[in-house]
Amino acid sequence: MTTGRAAPMPGEPDPVLLTPGPLTTTRATKSAMLRDWGSWDRAFNELTGSVCRDLVQIAGGAGTHVCVPLQGSGTFAVEAALGTLVPRDGKVLVPNNGAYCQRIGRILEKLGRGARMLDFPEDRPVDPAAVEDALRADAALTHVALVHCETGTGMLNPLDEVAQAVARQGRALIVDAMSSFGALPIDLARVPVDALVSASGKCLEGVPGMGFVIARREALERAHDHAHSLAMDLHDQWTYLERTGQWRFTPPTHVVAALRAALDQYLQEGGQPARQRRYEANCATLVHGMRALGLKTFLRDADQAPIIVTFHAPDAAQYAFRTLYEAVRAQGYILYPGKLTQIETFRVGCIGAIDARVIAGAVAAIARALAQMGALPSGGRA
Ligand SMILES: *Cc1c(COP(=O)(O)O)cnc(C)c1O
Repeated sequence: MTTGRAAPMPGEPDPVLLTPGPLTTTRATKSAMLRDWGSWDRAFNELTGSVCRDLVQIAGGAGTHVCVPLQGSGTFAVEAALGTLVPRDGKVLVPNNGAYCQRIGRILEKLGRGARMLDFPEDRPVDPAAVEDALRADAALTHVALVHCETGTGMLNPLDEVAQAVARQGRALIVDAMSSFGALPIDLARVPVDALVSASGKCLEGVPGMGFVIARREALERAHDHAHSLAMDLHDQWTYLERTGQWRFTPPTHVVAALRAALDQYLQEGGQPARQRRYEANCATLVHGMRALGLKTFLRDADQAPIIVTFHAPDAAQYAFRTLYEAVRAQGYILYPGKLTQIETFRVGCIGAIDARVIAGAVAAIARALAQMGALPSGGRA
């Protein structure tokens, strides 16, 4: 028998995942997967129902919105939301300040839906006034697709202001809230949004494998003949679920069970405000510690979401991300590469079942690694 080189030995702790998903989960969440569920069984149908009810509740969408779960990673749910809600002759305005905005553009192109990219610099938030001007200028635009937290950089985009602008212009808003839902305030009772997309393995701290779309009921009802694909048809998924209590195709049963356990812990911790406080403390500890080493953040503090932070790579010839990654990995932490094309950066996530003490340990590991490489910025202290 052969085992992977990097496979942990029995009893060895898992590395801390400082990435935007998969993330570090609690033992209780992992343990919830130690059961098998029948997909047609009443107990599993009730599990799905309770998860969906809680997700709508967390979003503030009770009475107006419904939750449609979908097998797969987050991108599957984004693609399904666009393909189901945007009519074949629809056209989507995509405010673009990063990699996940660009992914939405690529999806629309594949789906054959009209798209208009509205570009902003990667280090600037989306400007709601520019979105409103673009909508005024083009009557063919039916929807806007906004990325709330642009995980490519860590940028927080102004959801409320964009939503008000879109509503004033009488268009519909689809939000990729993948890396913000659960941690940052989103209240669908107050903010006009047709569909909000997120997934099990982000700020709710479940395991990856299930996306979900919290959609305005009327918008979904109208969307019965839009989808280009059977598996990606959220209207079909929703009506089948309503009728039978079951998923259309094999559900990710263990993922749903883990998400149920993660939601129980989420509610017990104090819900969204508590999650936001913990992530903000993680982010503050990270940024403060890294700045003390002489490292610089890519974004201004005012634009930074407490989800993931992009740092400029040290300006040293000896620096290579791979070397830093391996040296920090050997100390038990997993970093994330940068996603910017023009400049050398790396990212550190603040989310998952970790607290500021864990983050402080990660900063110390990064300091040791950079010192070993001879790449600690001048003025920094290990
Ligand atoms: C994680 C994420 C996604 C989905 O990515 P997957 O790899 O498909 O899970 C989409 N948008 C944003 C903003 C994300 O952070």
